[in-house]
Amino acid sequence: MTTENSVRTQSVFNPATGAEIAQVALADPRQVDEAVAAAKAAWPTWSETAPLRRARVMFKFKELLEQNHVKLASIITREHGKILSDAMGEVTRGIEVVEFACGLPQLLKTQFSDNIGGGIDNWNIRQSLGVTVGITPFNFPFMVPMWMAPLAIACGNTFILKPSERDPSASLLIAELFQQAGLPDGVFNVLQGDKVAVDALLAHPDVAAISFVGSTPIAEYIHSEGSRFGKRVQALGGAKNHLVVMPDANLEQAVDALMGAAYGSAGERCMAISVAVAVGDIADELVAKLAPRVRALKVGDGMAAEVEMGPVISAVHRTKIETLIASGVEQGAQLVVDGRGLQVSGQEQGYFIGGSLFDHVQEGMRIHSEEIFGPVLCVVRVPDFSAALDLINRHEFGNGVSLFTADGNTAREFSRRVQVGMVGINVPIPVPMAWHSFGGWKRSLFGDMHAYGEEGIRFYTRYKSIMQRWPDSIAKGAEFTMPVAK
Ligand code: NAD
Repeated sequence: MTTENSVRTQSVFNPATGAEIAQVALADPRQVDEAVAAAKAAWPTWSETAPLRRARVMFKFKELLEQNHVKLASIITREHGKILSDAMGEVTRGIEVVEFACGLPQLLKTQFSDNIGGGIDNWNIRQSLGVTVGITPFNFPFMVPMWMAPLAIACGNTFILKPSERDPSASLLIAELFQQAGLPDGVFNVLQGDKVAVDALLAHPDVAAISFVGSTPIAEYIHSEGSRFGKRVQALGGAKNHLVVMPDANLEQAVDALMGAAYGSAGERCMAISVAVAVGDIADELVAKLAPRVRALKVGDGMAAEVEMGPVISAVHRTKIETLIASGVEQGAQLVVDGRGLQVSGQEQGYFIGGSLFDHVQEGMRIHSEEIFGPVLCVVRVPDFSAALDLINRHEFGNGVSLFTADGNTAREFSRRVQVGMVGINVPIPVPMAWHSFGGWKRSLFGDMHAYGEEGIRFYTRYKSIMQRWPDSIAKGAEFTMPVAK
């Protein structure tokens, strides 16, 4: 179901043109009640549907997603701004989680202990929770909902998606395709809205679990409020991801990696690299190689084939990025490339900003401590490996990190000692595959379990232990001592 007759609405823009392209209705608490009631009503039948039949819906859904790959990517580019090839990649990464969910009957298999004593067997099962909710950010309007809904639903839950109000259309196509795949009404629901809808979901007594992905202040709020109302909560937050360049690294590869990871999707990725940590005396050469590449970035409408970087999500967000760049200059960092004030010919109303590059960034500067979420790369110079590791481990965020080196032992030490949830060795953006799990450490994740993969299965199910025996094996007489194996 989708929300209708909402009183409040909000404009949706194409960030490449600045033009309003849609209005999104923002749900009120009454509509939240309706969505939860629909999901609650659908749960008993869906949770009793055999896992294999639930998985078959996922197989069909996957096929439909593949058929609609370009359509989905185009919707993403139109409302988010990222280049079409990047949006195609986002859709692929989302489909991979659906592929994982197709294996649910195997994933739900549990453990059995035969004859633990006295004719008794003990085993465990994992059962669905009920109505689950996903609250998602603007920067991956398809992939992040796919981190949640396919697994929640395959596990036997019903699901309400509250997507970002800034790019809401992908969620509607997801709902349409789930319906075409044969998912019964009420199992997957889209609730468009903002804080009003989120707060009503957090407090709703019939919501069992909430998955959130977004900025750290909101993630912390969702986790504490959701927990206060007795719900299971996983809340993934913001990031400041470092890429360490060791003196023995292949510099060409490191520069290529930094260009893609810092400026891809205009830096609006939670796994974007926003800090290059130059170890030893490599910084001068690194900055000299990066600067011309940053200046040459092809910025424009993400639908154009030759474009490498699209606009940012809104004029307000561009102003925030510009303010942070100004703070870096004020605090003494060297602005080697200034992307502010970029005009794209013919698209003067678009929310464009060029790539920026800072050198001599110091810990304590806002451009190092805060998440900019824009195309800004900060180079921090450190004397050695330990200083690089300490710098990263002191940071409040711990989402992703990367190390470029030619030395296996350095790589091993780094992977083991770094206080970050996702680590790449000569890989700039180590987003785990669908059968591993995604999540940061420290203030990049609130809650106990990472998203998707086996952690996702655990999050969306409850563990139950069952012990059983049959009359023939029941010993005669009451037992008043602690039962032990006989
Ligand atoms: P956001 O926190 O502004 O919004 C996320 C969701 O929360 C949206 O659905 C929004 O409607 C809702 N929301 C916003 N303000 C709220 C409030 N006051 N109360 C209740 N709900 C509220 O995030 P965003 O700007 O859409 O996305 C960018 C952020 O998401 C960045 O910080 C980025 O790092 C983070 N992110 C993290 C991951 C991750 O896996 N860790 C992945 C993608 C994005």
